Amino acid sequence: LKCIAVMTSGGDSPGMNAAARAVVRTALYEGVEVWGINNGYKGAIEDDMYKLESRSVGDIIQRGGTFLGTARSPEFKTEEGRKQAMANFKKHGIQGLVIIGGDGSLTGGALLSKLGMPIVGLPGTIDNDVWGTDYTIGADTAANTIVDAINKLRDTASAHRRIILIEVMGRKSGWLAMTTGIAGGAEYVLVPEVKYNIDDMCQELKEAYDRGKRYSIVVVAEGAGSAIEIGKEVGEKTGIDTRVSVLGHIQRGGSPSVEDRIKASMLGEKAALALISGLSNVVFGFDAGKVVSIDLNDAVHNQKTLDPELIRLARVLA
Ligand code: ADP
Repeated sequence: LKCIAVMTSGGDSPGMNAAARAVVRTALYEGVEVWGINNGYKGAIEDDMYKLESRSVGDIIQRGGTFLGTARSPEFKTEEGRKQAMANFKKHGIQGLVIIGGDGSLTGGALLSKLGMPIVGLPGTIDNDVWGTDYTIGADTAANTIVDAINKLRDTASAHRRIILIEVMGRKSGWLAMTTGIAGGAEYVLVPEVKYNIDDMCQELKEAYDRGKRYSIVVVAEGAGSAIEIGKEVGEKTGIDTRVSVLGHIQRGGSPSVEDRIKASMLGEKAALALISGLSNVVFGFDAGKVVSIDLNDAVHNQKTLDPELIRLARVLA
């Protein structure tokens, strides 16, 4: 292909910039024209796109968010919206598209590919919930942000002999909660993938405090329930001073970690090279430390599960 485009879509994640930058610089290195689409599918429908130069992606590798912007686009869920996007691509001679986004964005990409647009997807989400890849762009940075918060909450929990519940993102996935629970030394991690019993947890917490324990950290995945409600119940049932911290959008921001910058760059290069050489309808990700390609339809039609080794380890170490 002689002209490709790149967009970021859905929830933003740190490292999207590094991935888009790698797509742009690789395309230009290969002598291929490259366009940027603003605000995901919304920009595709509204014809908000422009030709990028090497300098367009200067000074962004260290920034969170996405220089292209991102949006949620209900219009794109209609056939009419997708046809409008296709017409805009055609007008500018765009022959292939790299989509950096989560499950929803990749599902949208699969529908575009059915209309004849060659698509390469890159998993961009802090949730690490895309099937077929161990890694998604931004999850490492988000996990580090959460662990930093856990460290700070631990100090105050210890000073006051409190139980602190920390609600973290992840949508239906418990990956962020489980990894940060292990890394942050949490006593309990509540995730949607594993049934939990509040009464048992409260009983154990009470016994631990009676033995002299100074504090407890409980990480709650947003998909496992509301930490505010669970915290209220825990406080009432244990009689121990309990506090809740809902971390919210702070988890999406910040300068991407080294891992996110490097892996996003590797994925961006692969995405551009694949499209240019005529390979499409795949998602690039990582498996056991190596870049792998996954069929786009497989990636969006399968549900990723939480690694049972992580679940086991969290239990052993708590
Ligand atoms: P993420 O990509 O982070 O999972 P969303 O689920 O919000 O975020 O998806 C981003 C955008 O992708 C949506 O606003 C919509 O335009 C498009 N999209 C999501 N799901 C679908 C779908 N089933 N069909 C068509 N487009 C979709």
